[in-house]
Amino acid sequence: MVDLCKSRDVQGIRRFITPELHAAMKETLDRGEQIILFLNRRGFSTFPICAACGEAVKCKNCDISLTLHKEANAYKCHYCGYTLASASNCPTCGSSGIKLLGLGTEKVEAAVKKLFPDARVARMDRDTTARKGSILKILKGIKNRTTDILIGTQMVAKGHDFPNITLVGIICADLSLSFPDFRAGERTFQLLAQVSGRAGRGVSPGKVILQTYNPTHFSILSAKSQNVKAFYNQEIVFRKALNYPPFSRMIQFKILGKDKKKTQKHAQALGDLCNILQKSDKSFLKSVEILGPIEASIPKIAKQYRRQILLKGLNAKLLHQFVKHLLFKNRLIFSNRSVKVVVDVDPFFMM
Ligand SMILES: [Zn+2]
Ligand SMILES: [Zn+2]
Repeated sequence: MVDLCKSRDVQGIRRFITPELHAAMKETLDRGEQIILFLNRRGFSTFPICAACGEAVKCKNCDISLTLHKEANAYKCHYCGYTLASASNCPTCGSSGIKLLGLGTEKVEAAVKKLFPDARVARMDRDTTARKGSILKILKGIKNRTTDILIGTQMVAKGHDFPNITLVGIICADLSLSFPDFRAGERTFQLLAQVSGRAGRGVSPGKVILQTYNPTHFSILSAKSQNVKAFYNQEIVFRKALNYPPFSRMIQFKILGKDKKKTQKHAQALGDLCNILQKSDKSFLKSVEILGPIEASIPKIAKQYRRQILLKGLNAKLLHQFVKHLLFKNRLIFSNRSVKVVVDVDPFFMM
């Protein structure tokens, strides 16, 4: 495990290919073995920011940063598909001095090619696998050993069994850890354990270099030791304390509208109705918890403002009854011409 807060090269500079990873890659290549580098974010710069005014280069339809894709020569929004020419100036102040912060697989690929100019490098993410047959072609390169280093997103984590891969480098283990979702720890553990499992499946032993800003986080520690039980034992305490699944069931209302004020008012009215219904019935009062309405973690996507209400219920039947009551007695407050309410039962992603 490499602590990214502390790791510096000989000149004292922070590198996302740390000296530890660099050395291990060199050794692996010298032995004629193969490497996987994993980073769960595609593109070149995931956080382009204007050096003159300090504003992030954002999507005009969504409240989110654009990602620079160098190969496509464009900034792209990963949520609505909006694109902006890569030669564009800052949308806020017009300056041309845009700093390309934030790391994606394209940037890792560029750095690797510079560090190991003789190595044969391939990249597997949604940008390189859009064409039919392209995934197979990339995997063949690994199998036939015509690729030395494979760089990719979670697409490289899944089930591949290549005996000559003896080094897995996790560029930054923390990306999924800070998601505003109760499953963030579980997903991080799963992904890291999975991608680590790609190393050393053959006769030669494998090595995993896990780079992280959170070396003491239990999701990362349990992934390091591949210890499902250790992860479970800590995670379950937190789930229980906050009544998250598996101790409860959840239903999420997503309130979406093009007018910010109307959307906000609608969400408030729906929230009030939830509170009235909860108090009208003793069994609801005991078993249904209402969280919100609040602004969604991405407040605007594709020109729509987004708010949310989360219902937690200890009993699935009662929770469903609660929503049925709401729905059938108050059809208008659910959806109208300007504001839409989407009901998501057991939401998997809570963005
Ligand atoms: Zn967008
Ligand atoms: Zn600017």
